[in-house]
Amino acid sequence: MSTKNTGDRFVRTSTNRQPVIQAPKLIKVAKGDQPLYRSLIEAAKAAAERAYCPYSNYNVGAAVLTFDGKIYVGCNVENCGYTQTKHAEEGAIQAAIADGVLQRAEAAGLTQFQAFLAIAVHAPKGSDPWPCCNCRQSLSEFGFEMHVIGEGQNGEILCLTLGQLIPFPFPIAEVLESVRGQR
Ligand SMILES: [Zn+2]
Repeated sequence: MSTKNTGDRFVRTSTNRQPVIQAPKLIKVAKGDQPLYRSLIEAAKAAAERAYCPYSNYNVGAAVLTFDGKIYVGCNVENCGYTQTKHAEEGAIQAAIADGVLQRAEAAGLTQFQAFLAIAVHAPKGSDPWPCCNCRQSLSEFGFEMHVIGEGQNGEILCLTLGQLIPFPFPIAEVLESVRGQR
């Protein structure tokens, strides 16, 4: 039996990995929002510089913009156990929540679905900013209206709503009803 690394057999980078569904249509960012979105992207880039990623060497940074104009950042933090690796988007959301964004939103008469306005993601090597599916689900706990943004190949701002990235989410309302015995 061969002891050759199975990755050599199973990973085929030449395989067509294009999604079978149609890509969502990019949102044109309003001129007035562009300076703020640029600074959000810059914050994500700076966080990516600080990532701990000795295994993948793939620095990712994220920055969330809250309803009250604050910016919180996160970066990927890898682990030799691999599955314990934390993603940048999760780190940014955690930082904001630990600093009280949900309490501030509540005090302002907002719900958890209105606490975050946007998240910028920066990955190296010309990657598009769209979060992995795990992070899309994590972000969906806080609504689908938030803008997910990043820098395109030509320096333009790419923008989609989270809802466009996760059109068929695990349904938070039904899970809540279920665990509270209302179903
Ligand atoms: Zn992720």
